[in-house]
Amino acid sequence: MSTSTDTGTLRIITAEDDHLAHNYHPLPVVISRGEGAWVTDVEGKRYLDLLSAYSALNFGHGHPAILAAAREQLDRLTLTSRAYHNDRLGPFAAALAELCGKDLVLPMNTGAEAVETGIKVARAWAYRVKGVAPDAAKIVVANGNFHGRTTTIVGFSDDPVAYEGFGPYAPGFVHVPFGDAAAIEAAIDESTAAVLIEPIQGEAGVVIPPEGYLRAVRELCTARGVLFIADEIQSGLGRVGTTFACDREGVVPDVYLLGKALGGGILPVSAVVANRDVLGVIRPGEHGSTFGGNPLAAAVGLQVVEMLASGEFQTRAAALGEHLAARLDALVGHGVTAVRVAGLWAGVDIDPAVGTGREVAERMLARGVLVKDTHGQTIRLAPPLVVRGTELDWAVEQLRHVLTV
Ligand SMILES: *Cc1c(COP(=O)(O)O)cnc(C)c1O
Repeated sequence: MSTSTDTGTLRIITAEDDHLAHNYHPLPVVISRGEGAWVTDVEGKRYLDLLSAYSALNFGHGHPAILAAAREQLDRLTLTSRAYHNDRLGPFAAALAELCGKDLVLPMNTGAEAVETGIKVARAWAYRVKGVAPDAAKIVVANGNFHGRTTTIVGFSDDPVAYEGFGPYAPGFVHVPFGDAAAIEAAIDESTAAVLIEPIQGEAGVVIPPEGYLRAVRELCTARGVLFIADEIQSGLGRVGTTFACDREGVVPDVYLLGKALGGGILPVSAVVANRDVLGVIRPGEHGSTFGGNPLAAAVGLQVVEMLASGEFQTRAAALGEHLAARLDALVGHGVTAVRVAGLWAGVDIDPAVGTGREVAERMLARGVLVKDTHGQTIRLAPPLVVRGTELDWAVEQLRHVLTV
């Protein structure tokens, strides 16, 4: 049986270390193939992928319909820039706007770019529509947030690993505790442009706010004339058993920030989606991206939106999520101190007595399951929505085993 000490894996990792910046600490496994919920390493060993590239692979590795859309488009046209129109972008924008119940789409590539775009839109809206004094616009953000890695975004992170050493930081952000609507209300004044939150905080460890929080945020943003921007880059597009995590409370934000799964696991596709009265404030030349809205991205994104429009993946995530929650709950008190589950997305807090999150992830790797630790003691599970219930059962059995050694 092959192990991670085999020369193939070690040789590749050592060679990588020679030339790759150390901005990640990957698990010692070298993946060379993927299909559905499973990946295969260079030595032929198979693993169940319970991370799904942080939810960018909601439809699994190599989903046939997404691959077909990409292949068909590769042969026709891949890039035009927005200097010209292309015949794929319009249909993608129309479908995505309809999925979101909004008028307009601004396509970008990575999630961080969508967040940056959302910040620009909110500020432009504050000055041009709301009448906030020049350069005074403020955006309320939550403690524990994760919105990406650009300098502006890490400047309003409260995680020292994310921000320390990268200042000076952009001003204009106000912090409040996550899950506390009264704190948001107290933070809002006449220069507040927006409240920017993740409806469920993914990177923080799948932190779910108290029931009623999103509704309260919606109500007070409406009452105070402030935009509600929902960063659904990780929580959206089927992950939690609904199209968006905001749907769990029947709430519609003013602005959706989307990314990750929008690219079907093939390429980065992100978007800001809002109504014309908000997104219409951006004028030609004020914002752009060489690759944003490229025809390949639009073809893949359109396929993703069509798959979500059927509701099939949301239903599956909801059912499998209940299944997963029941099994994970049974681990509490047995090497697990707490479990938070929303759809097919789980944060599992590991009892320090049985090891760190990283150690548990390494033990799971040895048993053929890929999971990722976050913030020391938490394991994040985000299986592809195509995973089977029996595969989840097997994976939880492996977790139970590594917690009792
Ligand atoms: C991943 C993520 C981002 C950043 O996306 P990138 O594509 O990595 O830039 C932003 N917000 C949330 C909530 C995320 O999970």
